[in-house]
Amino acid sequence: MAKKDFYEVLGVNRDASEDDIKKAYRKLAMKYHPDRNTDSKEAEDKFKEVKEAYEILSDSQKRAAYDQYGHAGVDPQAGMGGGGAGFGGFDFGDIFSDIFGGGQRGGGRSNVYRGSDLRYNMEITLEEAARGCEKQIRIPSHENCDACHGTGAKPGTQPKTCRTCGGHGQGRMSQGFFSIQQTCPTCHGSGKEITDPCHKCHGAGQVKTHKTLNVKIPAGVDEGDRIRLAGEGEPGQNGGPAGDLFVVTHVKKHSVFERDGKDLHCEMPISFATAALGGEVEIPTLDGMVKVKIAAETQSGRVYRVRGKGVKSVRGSDYGDLMCHVVVETPVALTERQKELLREFEAISQGDVATHSPRTKSFMDKLKDFFG
Ligand SMILES: [Zn+2]
Ligand SMILES: [Zn+2]
Repeated sequence: MAKKDFYEVLGVNRDASEDDIKKAYRKLAMKYHPDRNTDSKEAEDKFKEVKEAYEILSDSQKRAAYDQYGHAGVDPQAGMGGGGAGFGGFDFGDIFSDIFGGGQRGGGRSNVYRGSDLRYNMEITLEEAARGCEKQIRIPSHENCDACHGTGAKPGTQPKTCRTCGGHGQGRMSQGFFSIQQTCPTCHGSGKEITDPCHKCHGAGQVKTHKTLNVKIPAGVDEGDRIRLAGEGEPGQNGGPAGDLFVVTHVKKHSVFERDGKDLHCEMPISFATAALGGEVEIPTLDGMVKVKIAAETQSGRVYRVRGKGVKSVRGSDYGDLMCHVVVETPVALTERQKELLREFEAISQGDVATHSPRTKSFMDKLKDFFG
């Protein structure tokens, strides 16, 4: 029977976050849990399916392998010559990961391994995230040793057939009452043994170096988004494909704006005269200053929305909005003349709190209710 897509099983999108996956899993696991569905074969099958999908998608390495190779990329039995089937009630996958350290296998009997995926954390500014940018990164890499041309054998000599495994690359290993195939510990599956190692790479055939990559960050990326550079991860073994490099974006805190999805939020301080009388203030956006009309009698906490001045979605072309949160500012460092005018203002306003200070009035009313 063909296996269902793991994302479909959990009912999430392919770009779902770790959190979304966890939530979807919890919901479905509750629904189909055997304790709640006694004697339902259908629920039991569903529960297993959901559990399996979650085990893969909740593990970033397995998820990446699944994204690239589908079920073949994460099947613990792939590459073991079909020897894993038929142990009733026995979780074979766990045993393999214990013995082999969870290495990913690329299929076939020849110990072809896909290289590991690498993760690169990249800090970018909010402006860079909003507009997109191109960055250069320097990452460790391996290249074939130029002294031995990648063979690992001292120049002038050749690798010999491995004496431990006779060139098969594998040996049998007993695990309790059954035996399984295991990679040859001498040649690590290559079937070759180097008796006279190259002086430069010490027999590895490869040397460590660095490479510089250009990374295109698309406009609209957000905290934790992943950009995949296919084949730029660790090299595969014995001809296996290289892993991928995942660049994970981290957006630095901005001094003015706070981001919430496509929307940006900022504080908008206005003088109390502007707040009372109305007026216009200039506020910054990611692409320059814009004017915002302030209505008369504006209170602190009121939010003015500036349409289209947020951030573009990474997948769409529509922009979010800029939300300006009004803060009415108390004037400081007043001159004698200013103080005089304020005292006068206060004196003529005092008698009529209900008219001039709606918040004070509402607060006083609440206090009255509270104290009876
Ligand atoms: Zn070498
Ligand atoms: Zn060997």
